[in-house]
Parts: sequence; C-alpha cells; structure tokens
Amino acid sequence: MTSEFFLLEIMMAKVILVISDALRYDVAKANMGFLGHLVESRQATLHRIIGELPSMSRPMYETIHTGLTSSEHGIVANSIVRLSNKPNVFQSLKDAGKVTAAAAYYWYSELYNRAPYNPIDDQETDDDSLNIQHGRFYTQDEYPDIELFNSAAHLVRKFSPDYLLLHPMGMDYHGETFGADSKEYRNHAIYQDSKLAPLIMEWIERGYTVFVTGDHGINSDGGHGGTTPEQRDVPLFIIRPSRTGRGETGEIVSHLQIAPTILNCLGVDVPPTMKYPPLKLD
Ligand SMILES: [Zn+2]
Repeated sequence: MTSEFFLLEIMMAKVILVISDALRYDVAKANMGFLGHLVESRQATLHRIIGELPSMSRPMYETIHTGLTSSEHGIVANSIVRLSNKPNVFQSLKDAGKVTAAAAYYWYSELYNRAPYNPIDDQETDDDSLNIQHGRFYTQDEYPDIELFNSAAHLVRKFSPDYLLLHPMGMDYHGETFGADSKEYRNHAIYQDSKLAPLIMEWIERGYTVFVTGDHGINSDGGHGGTTPEQRDVPLFIIRPSRTGRGETGEIVSHLQIAPTILNCLGVDVPPTMKYPPLKLD
C-alpha cells in the first residue's frame, strides 16, 4: 500500500515556481506577512539563498533552470540572446511527457522557446512541441504584476500544468526606479504577498508544491550585479500541499539546487549536469 500511495503522490505531484525578480531576502522576510504566517505556523519552510553570481537577471534565469553556474552555462550577461544549450527544467519535463507553462518576462521565451523574441508571434504560445508549452510573456518592466498573476492563475485552471513558472518584474522595477531603501520597493513586497496569498491557497488545494524565490537582490542605488548580500541574498519559501513545513530553518541553500529539486519533486530523472543535491522537502 505504501508504495502505491508513494507512486500516486509522484504521479500527481505538480510544481509552481515563483521567481519574483529582485526580491531581497531581508525585505521578503520583513514585509511578506502571509508567507511569514505560513513559516511561523510551520505550514511552510524558509531557507536563505546566497545567490549565484553575477547577480544579474538572464544569467540567473538560466542558472535556476539548469542548476549550472554562469560560467558553466555561458549566459554570463544579460546581453547574450540565445537559446539555452544545456539540459534544463523545461526541456527535461517536456521530454518526460509533462505539461509545462510560464507567465514570465520574454527572456524566458528566448532561453527555452525561440530566440530572438518575436513580440507578436511569441507573446502567447500554446504549442506542445515547445519547451514552454503554454507561455504568456511580457516585454515591459512596468507590466503590472496583477495582470501576470491572473494569467498564471488562468493557465493553472485551464491546463493544470505539471510545472508553471510565475515571474513578476514588480520588485525589480520598483527597486531600480526608487532604490531598495524606499517605501515603494518595500510596499511592493507587501503587495505581492497579498496578491499571492489567495493564489497560493488555491494552488496547494490543487496539489501544487509552491516555491517562492528571487533571481537576485538589489541595493539602495537600485543596482544589482555585484557581490554584496543586498544584491545576492534571496529567500526560498516552500509550501507543500500537505501544509507541513519546517518553519524558518536558518539554513543556507543554493540556487543550483532548485532545478534538481523541481525534477525530483515531479519524479523526472535529474540530468547528470545538475550536480547539486535536490532539497529534502519533508
Ligand atoms: Zn532580475
């Protein structure tokens, strides 16, 4: 019986990864009160990630989805516009017959679907042959997070993807515009938390494990790319359908563990290039 239940759990496992662009660890912890409640009541787990370098967006998008450092995967700067040429989460899942989806900045389309991005043909994709089968992409940094959250929620209800990436730009936009030491940046963390709260409840009810993290942090000048804790430290919240968590662990984990953790969670073989151990979720 036990093994049958275990198999059933693997077969039904689904994952949503929220990468809030430029979500700093300290600001997330101080201002995201619903996530904080889940952590405080041990319905969720919170780790700290000392982010990989450089603390730049496109290199970290690829790092998070390949489990490789920037010098290993070659996307070493935002200016490198090409498809990923390493084993990655989207391709591994598609090859395993899983359904993939993303509501994300267009650089994700360029990394995993097609490069360069065509804003008319690529903005909305529903194509089983693509690595991101159901994609809803945006090109403007000020694109409202709530519109993107609604697109992601719709993809979940319509397609029940095995894996969905939700990637809002609001923290990065407010941080770069006003600096990280600003009411606008901090208040946007409160805003994202309040908009994610009902969605997270719906998604765990639907059997999803939800991860919330950032690609990098941001400093008081509104900059990132460097090595300071402000620029590289991000949270990793983990919410399971069982609502059992370890609370705030104080443990430092790696961006490089996210890709193998997602594949492991979905019962898909982890490519040998992803060398870091998956996180233990229970
Ligand atoms: Zn970024």
